[in-house]
Amino acid sequence: MKNKNTVIITEEMINSDPYGYTYKEICDCVGEKKARALMHALYKEKPQKKYQTMSIDDIYNGGDTRKYSFKLKDGYCIETVCIKRKTGVTVCVSTMVGCPVGCIFCASGSNGFIRNLTPSEIVQQVTLLKEKVNRIVYMGMGEPFFNYDNVIKSIHILRDRNGLNFPTDGINISTVGPLEQLKKIREEHLKIQLTLSLHATNQRTRDIIIPHMKGYDINKIVEAVLSYSERHNRKVTIAYLLIPGLNDKAADVRQLGRWFREKNVLINLLQYNDTANCNINRPNKQQLVAFKLRLEAAGLEVKMRESRGNNIKAACGQLVSNTNKKNKQNSSKPTDFNSHKFSKNKQNNNKSSSTQKKNLCPR
Ligand code: SF4
Repeated sequence: MKNKNTVIITEEMINSDPYGYTYKEICDCVGEKKARALMHALYKEKPQKKYQTMSIDDIYNGGDTRKYSFKLKDGYCIETVCIKRKTGVTVCVSTMVGCPVGCIFCASGSNGFIRNLTPSEIVQQVTLLKEKVNRIVYMGMGEPFFNYDNVIKSIHILRDRNGLNFPTDGINISTVGPLEQLKKIREEHLKIQLTLSLHATNQRTRDIIIPHMKGYDINKIVEAVLSYSERHNRKVTIAYLLIPGLNDKAADVRQLGRWFREKNVLINLLQYNDTANCNINRPNKQQLVAFKLRLEAAGLEVKMRESRGNNIKAACGQLVSNTNKKNKQNSSKPTDFNSHKFSKNKQNNNKSSSTQKKNLCPR
């Protein structure tokens, strides 16, 4: 018997948005021959307009970092960042337009949440790029676990052996840690990497830095992440944005040591890039190094993440923030992302807004 929530996939649905389906779904609907031909066209050939539900609006180059601004069918824009590393290219994908979480250092959260991205819109951020990537991080605009089903579906599509065949352990999800979803991901048969954006060692401080996570017990979040690490025998990353005077005290070092010493954990120490329009203190290099040494002395494995892309505002949401704000104001009702109606609003490209917060997304 079919689950009453099961959606019957039709050929019309596949034709209008083919990047949103796995090979099996397509095959079950249109048969093996057509499915194979379509998968070949989608993943082995150059991207074709007729299969796309979004397009590249602009590309910003900044040395090792390249930023894509994509325009969606309803006129909203999202950002995708490619970072060239010695070991290949990492792409940082968005999962929402805007974000409900409202971290104090982030441009994406400043306009609030607009809508979730569909699985297809997440997948196309990888397939429409002009470069071949070997690592995907879900770390752009939006909190991936507040769009859980679409994010998981996008991973199934990306790793599909008959499609892109992207290795699952090259995929990293970065989250602020909603508990229910952390428990769910623990039970998935997916060998993805997990990063927790912690940024604090006590509830009060975390509630200031990540306002939307008030009510999510910090100890339980840490416990759930460690449980994921144990169950899947994987190292998890703890992202920690250092804010002098707020989360760099001796008590913070002690608590991080208590939680993570002798655990399969890497602490990723991050620096806020710019103080424009944000009342938080930016640590200098010496402060960062000093904190790193204190954490190492407490028995922790620590890395300092090199900031990249500041010259092209490579943080989540920096470039498209104002565009989406205008679009949101012009739109009378929230977008139904399944309808893909084209907005006639002419969008500005927003290459320089002095009012935006400027940081690399530290998640
Ligand atoms: S840092 Fe991430 S979770 Fe926080 S507001 Fe920005 S996009 Fe949302």
